[in-house]
Amino acid sequence: MAERARRAFVCGWPVAHSRSPLIHRYWLAEHDIDGSYDAVAVDPAGFDDFVGGLLEAGWAGGNVTIPHKERAVALAERRDAAAERIGAANTLWFENGRLHAANTDWSGFAANLDQGAPGWREGERAVVLGAGGAARAVIHALQIAGYRHIAIVNRTVERAQALAARFGDGVGVAPLENLGGLLADCDLLVNTTSLGMDGAPGHAFDLDRLGDRTIVTDIVYVPLVTPLLAQAAARGCVTVDGLGMLLHQAVPGFEAWFGVRPQVTDALRALVVADMEKNK
Ligand code: NAP
Repeated sequence: MAERARRAFVCGWPVAHSRSPLIHRYWLAEHDIDGSYDAVAVDPAGFDDFVGGLLEAGWAGGNVTIPHKERAVALAERRDAAAERIGAANTLWFENGRLHAANTDWSGFAANLDQGAPGWREGERAVVLGAGGAARAVIHALQIAGYRHIAIVNRTVERAQALAARFGDGVGVAPLENLGGLLADCDLLVNTTSLGMDGAPGHAFDLDRLGDRTIVTDIVYVPLVTPLLAQAAARGCVTVDGLGMLLHQAVPGFEAWFGVRPQVTDALRALVVADMEKNK
């Protein structure tokens, strides 16, 4: 009997904006795999039941996005070290009938910098703007890469303090007034706030003292060139946009569900960029 086509999902609330179906369907076609990948809108009240019924419904696994990433960690039977440390998972799959959860946002962030700014791992000092869910994955990636001094600057100081407490030694909180001094002496600047997103207010950070040896990356990728990246590029910095993080975080999930490790290529990136242009 022919093997059943494998099915994967992205679930979130809302989820219609997700570009994950575009990415995974591209890879399914590229590798000629008999499988599917669909967006499923699941509200917070329905998430536990959705996860509880995955196996019976025939899903191989899927991606989890806002607002379910924290709950996904709690519901999985097994979780990887990153999901545990970050407290959020974006990838679910079954092994021997057991639900596994992983966080691949952090490794997607790192792989994007490996590609766009080789040498970033040699840095020691980083400034992270923002203290939301994505900042946690970024801080984990920076610690794994060997950053020894990570300063979090956030509008709501208490949120930054909670992250510093979570990640421990080497991670501190700095007030916005100290940003200039930090920027004068940092190897990497990361924006994890939603500032700069299309429709959101532009970034509110003073980059006057940013030197040209600092690598600057923004995890916001709509638009691709955020106001922060435009300013940093004008100052001569190496800049890396956030789209590669989205593309690279998708790789381990596809491999877990469909058994092939896909590549992040220029053609895939161009496909997603074209979709962004079309839906402007
Ligand atoms: P989140 O948990 O809601 O956190 C939002 C962050 O932005 C907080 O630090 C918040 O500060 C800050 N912020 C929002 N509005 C602000 C304003 N007007 N002034 C100053 N700070 C403001 O969101 P998230 O899940 O971390 O996501 C953040 C961004 O990253 C989103 O744009 C998301 O699309 C993007 N993202 C990209 C990828 C990728 O693959 N490239 C992956 C994940 C997320 P407060 O704490 O003071 O509210």
